[in-house]
Amino acid sequence: MQLRKELVEICHKVYANGFVSAYDGNLSVRIDNERVLITPSGKCKGEVNEEDLIEVDYRGRIIKGEGKVSTEVKIHLLPYQKRKEINAVIHCHPVYATAFASAGEGLTKPIFPEVILALGKVPLCKYATPSTDELPNSMLPYIDYAWAMLFENHGAVTFGKNIKGAYFRMEKLEHAAHTIIAARMLGREKTIPLNKLRELYNISEEVFGIKTDKRNRMDY
Ligand SMILES: [Zn+2]
Repeated sequence: MQLRKELVEICHKVYANGFVSAYDGNLSVRIDNERVLITPSGKCKGEVNEEDLIEVDYRGRIIKGEGKVSTEVKIHLLPYQKRKEINAVIHCHPVYATAFASAGEGLTKPIFPEVILALGKVPLCKYATPSTDELPNSMLPYIDYAWAMLFENHGAVTFGKNIKGAYFRMEKLEHAAHTIIAARMLGREKTIPLNKLRELYNISEEVFGIKTDKRNRMDY
């Protein structure tokens, strides 16, 4: 099945890029209104193959597959339930994005025009104990609009209309975090002037059809 093939390819990419270590992270795609395809727990993303993937229902119960469902499955189910346009979810621990998350800082300032257009505001979800309901609940304040979020002292999550879209957001998030940290070595990153930011939001609406409102506008 094409979805399995694509998901495995992205798993290997996530591991090759060092976005996870050992058995960390989990990736999923929506199959239909009843099923989600997700990586099993306890398996390195660099070694996952198509047969390892598990089908679960929207309560996280196994429909098909041999492995164990990740305790973090709820991070995936929440966005599928809340947003029809989301068909893929990636949760991992990329070093620079996670450095922001550990410093208690989201990526919410307008620094890079392309990041504003493609990624939008990346909020920081309050620290929550992994594998409990606290973690998906920490996403609730931002789930209606965000395409990427940081988990305080933990990692990152991105969403996509497909798995490639979710992956490129993760790559973009990590690249932006890395660049900001490099800029801080030179002093401090500068933000885009407010009038230029407004121009950008207009482009975003006209060209990309992405509406911005009070919730997803960058902090100024
Ligand atoms: Zn995690």
